[in-house]
Amino acid sequence: MLDIQKIRADFPILNEKVNGKPLVYFDNGATSQKPQVVIDAIAKYYQEINANIHRGVHTLSQLATDAYEIARGKVQHHINAKHAHEVLFTSGTTFGINLVANGFASILKPGDEVLVSALEHHSNIVPWQMLCEKTGATLKVIPMDENGELIMSQYDKLLSVKTKIVTVNHISNALGIINPIKYMIDKAHEVGAAILIDGAQAVPHLKPDVQALDCDFYAFSGHKMCGPTGTGILYGKEAWLNKLPPYQGGGEMIKEVTFEKTTYAELPHKFEAGTPNIAGGIVLGTAIDYMNEVGFENIQQQELELLAYATKRLLEIEGLRIYGNSAAKTSVVSFNIEGIHPYDIGTIIDKLGIAVRTGHHCAQPIMNFYEIPGTIRASFSFYNTKEEIDVLVEAVKKAQLMLS
Ligand SMILES: *Cc1c(COP(=O)(O)O)cnc(C)c1O
Repeated sequence: MLDIQKIRADFPILNEKVNGKPLVYFDNGATSQKPQVVIDAIAKYYQEINANIHRGVHTLSQLATDAYEIARGKVQHHINAKHAHEVLFTSGTTFGINLVANGFASILKPGDEVLVSALEHHSNIVPWQMLCEKTGATLKVIPMDENGELIMSQYDKLLSVKTKIVTVNHISNALGIINPIKYMIDKAHEVGAAILIDGAQAVPHLKPDVQALDCDFYAFSGHKMCGPTGTGILYGKEAWLNKLPPYQGGGEMIKEVTFEKTTYAELPHKFEAGTPNIAGGIVLGTAIDYMNEVGFENIQQQELELLAYATKRLLEIEGLRIYGNSAAKTSVVSFNIEGIHPYDIGTIIDKLGIAVRTGHHCAQPIMNFYEIPGTIRASFSFYNTKEEIDVLVEAVKKAQLMLS
């Protein structure tokens, strides 16, 4: 079992007061808080080894390059990628998905199909719509049911030789549903389609094994897993990354440049044009070390307890409905109270120091499905406590009284 008080002491922001009340941070789905080791590592980089990477023969440049490549290796090990050069540093999930969608513009033809799911974040919808507009391919949607689960029989029917790529999140940010991605990956491969997994909401809770999953691409952000903002990873199978054209042109991604013809660098540099977020990449490695020290089994145990407790306590409130009812769920509770706009509750409980997300959570199609303007989403991390959930429940009750 985790010593939660000891863990909480690692996160200085958890001692802050908001609107005069102790902060209760339940917006982990939007971004996680950062432990002191991560905050310190950012300063340490700039204080001790700041230099541009891959360019200089001078000592600092080599130290920075080494640290950056060590971080890449940590990510490789963490997600069990076969090669370090299959791990691309990006600015986040959004960038990674756009990189792949852009690359597929050179592959797709009119009549080809792209499959997305009804549960996606906008950043895993819009790039594919743009791709389809550009290429004349058709976007198809894997539907969901009332519980927030994707309907696998419909998925099976949608798949065909026309399907060139399937894209689905590992875990839904709006509802917390864990999708059956292993099944989906195997089925996509049966028809010869590639598959991208949006792992933004998975990596804060579990350690993905990209080789066991056998996915073609896996994208995630650093800032939702205790790392700095502006960091992310795109994993891609070597064969796919070799097949896709570069995303951005610039320094660092070339082998040779003349005005007649430019040849591109080897992986991973082909996809890493320009000076990257060097400090961010290195410190993402620190964040991954930190999470592994806490231990993903411990993280899951704590978070599932919080989920069960929050679900039970919130359902005590009259007129409260939880969206996303699946046995396969992570620590997210998305809810509404009959007759009250989610925004009004969010505003009142903010005055009481509680940070939750209200709105469509960048997943408007899900809200349209339920015919609601949005939800109140409380997303828990391993550093949250049952006492904090009690504070939330009391605050929501108070808001309900004020608003009805
Ligand atoms: C947060 C999130 C994204 C976008 O991540 P960025 O860090 O904003 O690029 C994409 N998909 C899901 C499921 C997310 O939760």
